Amino acid sequence: MRNLERYKRLLLAKRDELSAARDAAAALAPPAGDTEGDLMDRANADAEAELQTRVHQTDGRLLRAIEEALVRIRRGTFGVCEACKSPISKARLEAVPWTHLCRDCKERKHSTA
Ligand SMILES: [Zn+2]
Repeated sequence: MRNLERYKRLLLAKRDELSAARDAAAALAPPAGDTEGDLMDRANADAEAELQTRVHQTDGRLLRAIEEALVRIRRGTFGVCEACKSPISKARLEAVPWTHLCRDCKERKHSTA
């Protein structure tokens, strides 16, 4: 595929971005034992912690998807839908280079889920 190098750069850039965001979030996390305070503060801290956890889970999934896409580039299977084996459109790969499903299969998956 002609644009492979380009997609690889996109994937690596996104991976760096996510890793940096994760490091920054870890640096911002309050040190253990610093959660004393009145009930309202405590509730806010809990909500914040929950939000951070959710953000991390999403990032983790995306990071894994990016790693898998990089593996597919190495194997020469990048840009092919894993469900129907059709080529994934260029526009879709530009927007979400880590995808492993074409638009049709992605939508089908959503409608059956
Ligand atoms: Zn497909």
